[in-house]
Amino acid sequence: MTTDNPKLNKLGTFFVAEQQSGTVWRPAAAPVKVLRFAMLFQGVLLLILSACATAPQPALPTLAPTAVPPAIATVATNPSASALPPPTLTVPATAVPPTETPVINLENVAPTAVPTAISMATDTAVPSPSPETSSAFPTTAVSSSSLSVIGNSVQGRPILNYQFGNGLTQVIFVGGIHGGYEWNTILLAYEIIDHYTTNPQLIPSDLTVHIIPSANPDGQYLVTNQSERFLPSDVAADTVPGRFNANNVDLNRNWDCQWQPTAVWRDVTVSGGPRPFSEPESIVLRDFILPKDPAIVVFWHSAANGVFAAGCPDTHAPSLALANVYGQAANYPVYERFTSYEITGDAGDWLATQNIPSISVELQNHQSLDLSQNLNGVQATLDYLAGP
Ligand SMILES: [Zn+2]
Repeated sequence: MTTDNPKLNKLGTFFVAEQQSGTVWRPAAAPVKVLRFAMLFQGVLLLILSACATAPQPALPTLAPTAVPPAIATVATNPSASALPPPTLTVPATAVPPTETPVINLENVAPTAVPTAISMATDTAVPSPSPETSSAFPTTAVSSSSLSVIGNSVQGRPILNYQFGNGLTQVIFVGGIHGGYEWNTILLAYEIIDHYTTNPQLIPSDLTVHIIPSANPDGQYLVTNQSERFLPSDVAADTVPGRFNANNVDLNRNWDCQWQPTAVWRDVTVSGGPRPFSEPESIVLRDFILPKDPAIVVFWHSAANGVFAAGCPDTHAPSLALANVYGQAANYPVYERFTSYEITGDAGDWLATQNIPSISVELQNHQSLDLSQNLNGVQATLDYLAGP
């Protein structure tokens, strides 16, 4: 790479140096003035970075020793047993036959629920819900949340986030990581979005609350034929295929805690993906969560009827403390870990490796939303994490 122009010659030398040094950015032939400027710039950058590093961080839950005894008390008073027994799963031990028809419990589902209309073509924040489609929502609450698309699924469906508040402490709730198989967690998330849209004053001022209703929209679509909000009557008889994403990967076996390519769900073998974070949905969630350094990430699942603390593999104490806050308020049994069968590549467990507290809330069955229980659990968690 040579030329008669001396400036371009320097440029050429630089590019050669860059190529020879691989990924190291090394301007071998840069003039001294440029180097001095670069060093000055680096100094300024370091000053800015060190200032950022000392900026206030979102408050993590208090880990006072007093927070643990209630946890133990909760577990001990669990009628199941004193030694953290595996919860009794309400699903059959063998794979659900395709002929099984789910009994849809409409008790907790508002009959007037209307699918939220959302923009699928933009990745910028848009007001939610839009006025022309807000018949199910009070118009006074339109400005209380913002809706954004945080990424896309394998088949290009948007993964949505509803944000409430603008406080420093970040709190994240995730429904539907198991797609249409756990469709009630998606409708629960939407009901909770409705609740805080109607009652924005219940969000403590120092919190920002994010609710991602459907983390596996392709799996949801497979079972409901809907990309956005749906009705229980949309749900197909066989929900099992909707557990996985469009690559047939179990998204809650795809994270980098004790990850295995071949994983287990009950006594069924499922794919954890070819490598940790191989799936776009996992990457979207990880990259959304990590920079926020949230005080908690709650995953809604069904249906083991309990709240489970994260850990990889040992129980993460801050996660257990928050599992007790949520579980006591929601009247779910609380467990240090899930022990019914080995789970590899779990999302919350990986977050615990990043010292991000996480809990999995397992609804009672595959149809009920357990709405009042979870409204209590969510509010107790928000109030716990709020400043004095
Ligand atoms: Zn699940």
